[in-house]
Amino acid sequence: MARVLSDAVDLSDSQHLVRQNVQNICENFDDAYWREHADQNEYPQEFVETLADHGWMGILIPEEYGGAGMGTRETVVMMEEIAAGGGGFSAAQAVHGGVYNSAPITEYASEEIKSDLLPDVAEGKTSIQAFGLTEPNAGSNSPAMETRAERDDDEYVINGQKIWISRVDVSDYIVLVARTMPRDEVEKRTRGISMFLVDLDDAVDQGALEMETIPKSAGDLVHSYELWFDDLRVPAENLIGEEGNGFYQVLDGLNEERLVIAAECIGLGRLALERAIDYANEREVFGNPIGSNQAIQHPLAEAYARLQAAKQLTYNAADRAASDDDSVDLGAQANAAKYLAADAAFKAADAAVQTHGGFGIAKEYDVERYLREARLTRLVPITQQLALNYLGEQVLGLPRSY
Ligand SMILES: Cc1cc2nc3c(=O)[nH]c(=O)nc-3n(C[C@H](O)[C@H](O)[C@H](O)COP(=O)(O)OP(=O)(O)OC[C@H]3O[C@@H](n4cnc5c(N)ncnc54)[C@H](O)[C@@H]3O)c2cc1C
Repeated sequence: MARVLSDAVDLSDSQHLVRQNVQNICENFDDAYWREHADQNEYPQEFVETLADHGWMGILIPEEYGGAGMGTRETVVMMEEIAAGGGGFSAAQAVHGGVYNSAPITEYASEEIKSDLLPDVAEGKTSIQAFGLTEPNAGSNSPAMETRAERDDDEYVINGQKIWISRVDVSDYIVLVARTMPRDEVEKRTRGISMFLVDLDDAVDQGALEMETIPKSAGDLVHSYELWFDDLRVPAENLIGEEGNGFYQVLDGLNEERLVIAAECIGLGRLALERAIDYANEREVFGNPIGSNQAIQHPLAEAYARLQAAKQLTYNAADRAASDDDSVDLGAQANAAKYLAADAAFKAADAAVQTHGGFGIAKEYDVERYLREARLTRLVPITQQLALNYLGEQVLGLPRSY
């Protein structure tokens, strides 16, 4: 059987190249690899290194800094294939930060930081996998963040707490977002926030960083942490972009990143659907393959239709993101795509579990892991409700209730 949804959208030559190359890489990492790493909560280091060896960790890094100089369209293809290739959403999340954190650095960091770091990031020698935004008292409402960065001569001193920060254990640096002006001293709550590049080894050496893993039930390969910063000193030149403008720097590129997340959800949904189709064809009960029962067949057909729709929206929006057409409301498309893709992935994974009967929860068939991951996609990096809030308020012009 051809890969599900392989012909759902037209691909450019460069997208074809990305898809083929990433599929080839994924074929070297079988189900047992992913199952074992998930069971042991172990980061898939060999997989990430192989991607880096082929230059894919630098997909978004401009060629002048040693990267592939590609854009959202190619990244969408790459991340869909990584998720679909057996590792699921976890595999995509294992590399997501490393791929995406290069974007604010390319756009806003000093020339010195860019030429020092980006070539090594592209080669996989240096890792900037961690991004620190979320806080205990500022989840979906991120401008409510309380972590403070105060200027002291040629340094900033950072104090505060972050939560749910992923991949800190496999990062050399974290891109950290903190308040440089207290909330009550800025006219708009989105101002007075700044972005920093923090050297994690240095933070540990200073005794200024404590971290604890958050035990969790999905995304097993990737670890997430609670972090405490206590008088962490960061050189002033590690400010990324303009002081006070960090929140807008976070927003810049957010829609493109959301499309990439949508593609990761679609990849996971495809993976679950392909496994369900195989099992529905093989397993015989009452003398017939279970897939001949419409109660099994229709949920899979429905999952296919939902994934198809989400994929077309995601790819269409990624193409339009690459165009210079200002009339495109990318926020509307990216939030709709993420919402639909997460739901499509969840429905596909749920149908895959049901198709497998009792084996749906057996680890050896993997679909139980896909379902846990699919549930997670409805929570991160934006919850389904917050995506709908965006569409309701910003796109449909309905009043805000909170
Ligand atoms: C596995 C994992 C990895 C993560 N990795 C990172 C990371 O690397 N870096 C990082 O910065 N963050 C990370 N996060 C944090 C993630 O972005 C947040 O969990 C997410 O934005 C939701 O915030 P919250 O958990 O605080 O939920 P809350 O904001 O507390 O929301 C709780 C519930 O209330 C709903 N809700 C809240 N306000 C409204 C409203 N106005 N209208 C309707 N519903 C509302 C939400 O939709 C949600 O269902 C990660 C989270 C997880 C689970």
